[in-house]
Amino acid sequence: MSNKVIAVVIDGLRYDKASEALGYIQHLVEANQAAFYKVKSELPSLSRPLYEVLLTGTKASENGITANQIVRLSKEKSLFHLTKENGLRNAAAAYYWVSELYNRAPFDFIEDRLQIDESKPIQYGSFYWEDDYPDSHLLADAESLRRKYNPDFLYIHPMGVDLKGEQFGSESKEYREQVLRIGQLLAQLVPIWMKEGYHIVITSDHGMSESGNHGGTTQGEREVPLFIISSEVEPGVYEEEVPQLAIAPLVCQLLEIEPSEKMISYTLPGLKKEKVIH
Ligand SMILES: [Zn+2]
Repeated sequence: MSNKVIAVVIDGLRYDKASEALGYIQHLVEANQAAFYKVKSELPSLSRPLYEVLLTGTKASENGITANQIVRLSKEKSLFHLTKENGLRNAAAAYYWVSELYNRAPFDFIEDRLQIDESKPIQYGSFYWEDDYPDSHLLADAESLRRKYNPDFLYIHPMGVDLKGEQFGSESKEYREQVLRIGQLLAQLVPIWMKEGYHIVITSDHGMSESGNHGGTTQGEREVPLFIISSEVEPGVYEEEVPQLAIAPLVCQLLEIEPSEKMISYTLPGLKKEKVIH
């Protein structure tokens, strides 16, 4: 078993909609090949602050990324920094705010669109800035980085679900259709990744309200899914609510690298054993 990780963060995906509309991923849960958890997002339930939460395992009050409008490099140690320090390769196909947090801020739309530079925290990056950049293209960007550069940690971040949620609300036909669509795209790639022995983590930054926004404290805005497809995690449906701060150290465990000093220690139910960190 390799210790490579693919993390897919489906922007703006509510837990309840992930439960009912991701048919193939839920098939893996039914077939005892995936674990399914509910995560409670940190606050504020906004994108840029939660990208920083997911990637550094620190809270907004600690890391200072308290609003979408804070455009600067992160001061924390991210999964990109950690993988690089440990001699691993990383890659990301993500919204440009991720590049602004870890590689360069503000984003230069020409120079920063494709970043192939091993000296940067994100070593192989492909970034988009239009919220309607198709999820199909984003997943193709990610898969092409994977095939070309063979990263140990690949971060994939599609925006389509969030966009439809903000336009039409979480109870709309359009939002559900977009969740179905990302499910179909994942159904084409996840089997390939499984065959190649990746640990696969699928989650979201925040949910979505019925009225098409997020940032507050309601269940719809805060509850997001976490699926793990990994030989290290017992398949099944878990009731315990997982803190979002636990995702970054979990990825470290799967990668078999030391988490940063600021990351919380949390034992995920179903994790087969304490992995040996070396
Ligand atoms: Zn978001």
